Amino acid sequence: MSEKSVFTRILEGEIPSEILYQDEHCFVIRDIAPKAPTHLLLIPKKPIPKLSDATEEDRELLGHLLFTAKKVAQAAGIGDAFRLVINNGAGAGQTVFHLHLHILGNVQMSEGSLAL
Ligand code: AMP
Repeated sequence: MSEKSVFTRILEGEIPSEILYQDEHCFVIRDIAPKAPTHLLLIPKKPIPKLSDATEEDRELLGHLLFTAKKVAQAAGIGDAFRLVINNGAGAGQTVFHLHLHILGNVQMSEGSLAL
């Protein structure tokens, strides 16, 4: 079996981090190195390494993540202006190989600024 991701270790309490929200399928923490005034990570409890590894059986989970992202953004007070980012693969800047959505708020929405 492959090694546990840092996010699974946080979920299991091995690495300290405040879990801001959780339900049966996912949880939310603050990014340790925020790239925007509000920078949250929404993480499925199922350790799918990256979005392109998701299968048909993950379809409902992926929908749940998107819907939860909007609820979390609203609860965090950024419901009217936020950006969701998923880095898929090392070539796209992914560094933690456990699927996660970056929820960024109060970010400069300048044209073309996709880089995190
Ligand atoms: P990515 O580059 O899309 O894989 O994003 C991984 C993110 O996880 C980065 O923004 C890191 O700052 C963040 N990160 C890594 N370790 C931790 C941690 N222990 N707690 C919170 N965020 C973390």
